[in-house]
Order: sequence, then structure tokens, then C-alpha cells
Amino acid sequence: MTMTSPAAGPPGRLGASAPAGRPTTDDLPEPHVAHNYSPLPVTAATAEGAWITDVGGRRHLDCLGAYSAVNFGHRHPRIVAAALDQLARVTLTSRAFRSDRLEPFCAALASLCGKDMVLPMNTGAEAVESGIKVARKWGYDVKGVPDGRATIVVAGGNFHGRTTTIVSFSDDPAAYTGFGPYTPGFVRVPFGDLAALDAVIDENTVAVLLEPVQGEAGVIVPPDDYLPGARALCNERTALLIVDEIQSGLGRTGRTFAVEHWGVEPDVYLLGKALGGGLLPVSAVVADRSVLGVLHPGEHGSTFGGNPLAAAVGHTVVDMLAEGTWQRRAAALGERLHERLRDFVGDGVVAVRGLGLWAGIDLDPALGTGKDFCRQLSERGVLAKDTHGSTLRLAPPLVITESEIDWAMERFALTLRDRR
Ligand SMILES: *Cc1c(COP(=O)(O)O)cnc(C)c1O
Repeated sequence: MTMTSPAAGPPGRLGASAPAGRPTTDDLPEPHVAHNYSPLPVTAATAEGAWITDVGGRRHLDCLGAYSAVNFGHRHPRIVAAALDQLARVTLTSRAFRSDRLEPFCAALASLCGKDMVLPMNTGAEAVESGIKVARKWGYDVKGVPDGRATIVVAGGNFHGRTTTIVSFSDDPAAYTGFGPYTPGFVRVPFGDLAALDAVIDENTVAVLLEPVQGEAGVIVPPDDYLPGARALCNERTALLIVDEIQSGLGRTGRTFAVEHWGVEPDVYLLGKALGGGLLPVSAVVADRSVLGVLHPGEHGSTFGGNPLAAAVGHTVVDMLAEGTWQRRAAALGERLHERLRDFVGDGVVAVRGLGLWAGIDLDPALGTGKDFCRQLSERGVLAKDTHGSTLRLAPPLVITESEIDWAMERFALTLRDRR
């Protein structure tokens, strides 16, 4: 049930030559692009709002929203204006000098989170890595864990990014196989299981790291007692509750943060994706001074983290969210989306989960793979992404309208019909 590093992958997978029939590099449409993705055959040329136009001039409704990085739609005018304004001023100084954008951005983001301080980074994985470092340092400096003994509890089915340390505690063989040796110091327990969490948090536990709703795993919403229970256990045993809201946060679920659905306040927020407004990578670790204050000059950094362009864009995103209208929109339209999706259950769809404008859809495996379904759906003008076998994930930009949702659901119904 618990483990500190993933088991080795199946033998023969590593270094095997391409099976017969698999196209060689030269047959692929992008021969110079590394093959770590297998994109749908849609080539974007331009995009606006919830729509992507391909190189042939065909419009597609974007129901993936770059995995929730495009919450405000493609090229939202207010975010683009802020970026253009900043492009004409100063874009990069490194943290060796101050910029007039960083403190206002951090103040606004801290306030949105109800915390004191922000550690700005770039990608989501960097925010997670930074959160891990902060938690370990806090464990040694504040909790008094013996040096080198800190552990962090994570959940089964987690997705926190792709760095070597992060894949070390993944239980997805595709994510970790072939990338060892793995970073020690993590204990994994099943997601949603409070008793399992209770059993492993000990005097060396510095943090519990959770996605409040697991996105990549298929938009898995935990039982209602889980996050409040995790909060209580962390309080009782003096461990930090770190929530990875990189995908679930910033309006997606109908609240600013998914944890609000359960009235839980974490010690540390990890943010990314939509924080960059769909323009550029912006991520952050947000916590109180009692936690982030463990970092001193020289102990952590990033050349691009908190750069003036990122800060201008991130600040605009925070200002937009502070108005509350995006969250209300996601909640209202999410009801519509889930209402429509529930109609398919028992009719080609086995189950639907999610919160706000975010849905995981388990297709009847008899209808084929999620990937095939997405290809067919894209031919009908709707872009979505499969995750693990026959599960689909929808995360349309929050600018999507009710009639666009209805249109997407019609295309979805037609695609289901075609595959039966
Ligand atoms: C996407 C994602 C990450 C990683 O973000 P990158 O910007 O791709 O590094 C981490 N955690 C969660 C929950 C995510 O969805």
C-alpha cells in the first residue's frame, strides 16, 4: 500500500526497437519534434476565445483549454493588452535587480490566496519542486526533523509534473519507467483514503501533497471528508498541507480554488497553468511567512521566475479573478455541462465526474479508445483530450457560452452514435 519509490517497469520495454508497422521518424508530420506527445491531427494557426482555427481555415471549439492553462480563453484582450504594455517597458531583469512589477503582483496573488508571501517560478513542475524544497527546509528548520529524514506523503494516481523527482513518486509506469534512479523521501497512499493517510503521517512527515481534484487521473473528486480530514491530520501531527491547484485552481471548478468546495485552507498553494493567462508560463508557491520565510538569499532561485512580463500578466489574471465573475460563470456553465453529460450515462458513457467547467468522462470501453474518440470528435469540430484508456477530460476556456456547450454536446452525441 505504501512505498518510497516506484517498482521497476516491465522488462524489455526500454531500448526496444520500434515494433513492425510503427512509422519511422521520416513518415511523421513533424519529424524534428521529439515524440513525447501524440497530438490529434489538428494544426492550429490562430485562436480567439474558445476557438482554434487550423491551417486549413477550419474552426474548432477548444474543450481542453490547454489542460486548464487557457481558462480566460485564447488571447483574452485584457491580458494581451497588459503583456503588450509590458513588452514596451521591460521584460527580463533576473532577480539580481528589482522590477516595479514583482511586488505588486506578489501582493495581489498573496491576497487572493489569503497568505503573506509568493515565491514566483515559471512552470507547474517548478512550483511543485519548489514546494517540495520549501517543505523539506521547513521540516528541518521549524519542525526539527533530523537532517535527511524528511518525508512527504503523496496520493496514488497523482500528477504533479515531469521532473525526475516528481516522476519518482508517480505510480504511472509511462511517467516513471526508464527514468530512475528515483528520488527518495516520498510515501504514497491511495487517494481519498483518510485511514491510509492517518497510518503514514509520522514525526518525519513534513508535508502532505495533494491535488484537491486529480486532473490527469480523470478528474477524480475525493469523498467529502477527505480534504477536511487531511487538514485535521496535518494540524495534529505538525505537517504542511500542500495543495497542487495548478490545474484545479483559478476559477476552473467554480471557485477560485478547488479546496474552497470543502472549506479547507491549505498551508501552501502551488499554482501555475492559468496564472500565465494562456500567454506564457507563470507559476508560484504561495504560503505564509512562517513557511516561505525558511528560504534565504541564495538558497533557491530561477532566472525567469517573477520576470516583469510574467508579473504583469499574472497580476492581470489575479485582478480578473478578484472580481469573482469568472468563478460564478464556471459554476453556472459547469452545471449546464454536467447536466448535459449526465444524459449520456448508460448510453455509451459509464460515468461522469467533475466540478465546475471540468469533467472526466468514462466512455464505454466497447466504443474504442479515448484517443480514437477524440480524433473523431475533432473531425466534428470539438477538441478534447483522452487520459488513461477510455476516459476523456473536458476543460473548456471559461469564456465558452451556454450555446457553445450545447453545440459541443450535440457533436459529442453524434460521435457516440457513430461509434456504436
Ligand atoms: C500540469 C500540471 C502540473 C505541471 O505543470 P507544468 O507547467 O506542465 O510543469 C503539475 N500539477 C498539476 C496538477 C498539473 O495539472
